[in-house]
Amino acid sequence: MHQMTLAEIARGLADKKFSSEELTKVLLARITQLDPQLNSFISLTEELAIEQAKAADVRRANGESGALLGAPIAHKDLFCTQGIRTSCGSKMLDNFKAPYDATVVAKLAAAGAVTLGKTNMDEFAMGSANESSWYGAVKNPWNLEHVPGGSSGGSAAAVAARLLPAATATDTGGSIRQPAAFTNLTGLKPTYGRVSRWGMIAYASSLDQGGPLARTAEDCAIMLQGMAGFDQNDSTSIDEPVPDYSASLNESLQGLRIGVPKEYFSAGLDPRIAELIQNSIKELQKLGAVIKEISLPNMQHAIPAYYVIAPAEASSNLSRFDGVRFGHRCENPQNLIDLYKRSRGEGFGPEVQRRIMVGAYALSAGYYDAYYLKAQKIRRLVKNDFMAAFNEVDIILGPTTPNPAWKLGAKNSDPVAAYLEDVYTITANLAGLPGLSMPAGFVDGLPVGVQLLAPYFQEGRLLNVAHQYQLNTDWHTRTPQGF
Ligand code: GLN
Repeated sequence: MHQMTLAEIARGLADKKFSSEELTKVLLARITQLDPQLNSFISLTEELAIEQAKAADVRRANGESGALLGAPIAHKDLFCTQGIRTSCGSKMLDNFKAPYDATVVAKLAAAGAVTLGKTNMDEFAMGSANESSWYGAVKNPWNLEHVPGGSSGGSAAAVAARLLPAATATDTGGSIRQPAAFTNLTGLKPTYGRVSRWGMIAYASSLDQGGPLARTAEDCAIMLQGMAGFDQNDSTSIDEPVPDYSASLNESLQGLRIGVPKEYFSAGLDPRIAELIQNSIKELQKLGAVIKEISLPNMQHAIPAYYVIAPAEASSNLSRFDGVRFGHRCENPQNLIDLYKRSRGEGFGPEVQRRIMVGAYALSAGYYDAYYLKAQKIRRLVKNDFMAAFNEVDIILGPTTPNPAWKLGAKNSDPVAAYLEDVYTITANLAGLPGLSMPAGFVDGLPVGVQLLAPYFQEGRLLNVAHQYQLNTDWHTRTPQGF
């Protein structure tokens, strides 16, 4: 039962092969049995899950249908869930029960999805390995000695290990696509503004975007359908109609123009990954796609720009966690300054503290022009590169990551080494573009992802290309041993 995709679950529920309650109980038992190896959940919501599953079964019995009605999912633990701990992977919010549901949570619940729990993540979504969580590192089900990627590592590990078919995640600089690549999943970061950020605890507001992690493009289409849409509570939400993502999955790829940036195949890329990317290109050519070499000349500046802009926004967003308005409060403060210092010093882990310091520095008087303003200018150049490229091609293809999942602890003493691994993903966030990662093969038993980028609001095109690729390849069907 646990091997079923969301699409298969929807068919099984519609055909009355099983009930949502039965399926939910099977998956909850599986999580209890297998998750101690992975640490992919921070909280399990068993009672809520059974209650939602029963309600979904009643709705189906009354004639309602829908791909998410009765489908078990989980939420990354930065989506606010009413009355349920929403920790953001931090000691700072260990005792925070959100007073309301995030829009994404409310929309998926209204569509009938069943919440099994809240998944582990890098603290405040800062990281690429899911090792900065206050609740401990998450393990990669493909090799328990390796990281699952981050910051949505809990959602990724849980879906990859078949503990559930799909989960929500967020992507500020790659946190949906990179863990998807590291765990053999399909993950979609939508266009900035496509999915509401209301109730999603902010890391870097101009970059953050919620999206799905699942095993197939078909399932990502189902999840995105439930998540996307205008929200008046989010001032950056865009009032564009939401297309039927499942309806366009089977369009032909005949004549599709795929751009492959020459900068992607430079020295930093593992040659074994380069070869798998070439294979995926050949696969898409067989389906009728035409390949064109393109150039993204400002790509080399993207990492430094991102690692100024994201920490700058984080330092501002995280100022609310002061032990008064939000978050952990230290014992017996001597005065107000002591309260701030110790509450924040105790509540935030080292990576979060590092980013707050970098961000506050970059924004401070005298340095603002040299760092923050400069980074914003680079951001515009990165966007312009993409706009020029999309005049010539329909999608851009390349690796999701330069290397496969590294060993737990391997980059702990060198944060910059981890930042460099984001080279292929962060440009989409700087430009606000949609991006998808899908399975493309294995290196030393570890999964490798291929990334597709599209013009604004062309999520349907990404899902269409990925679905056609998945109808003709079987990488995405591989299951990690022991799960
Ligand atoms: N690895 C990047 C960072 O640490 C991206 C994180 C994310 O997308 N949330 O900032």
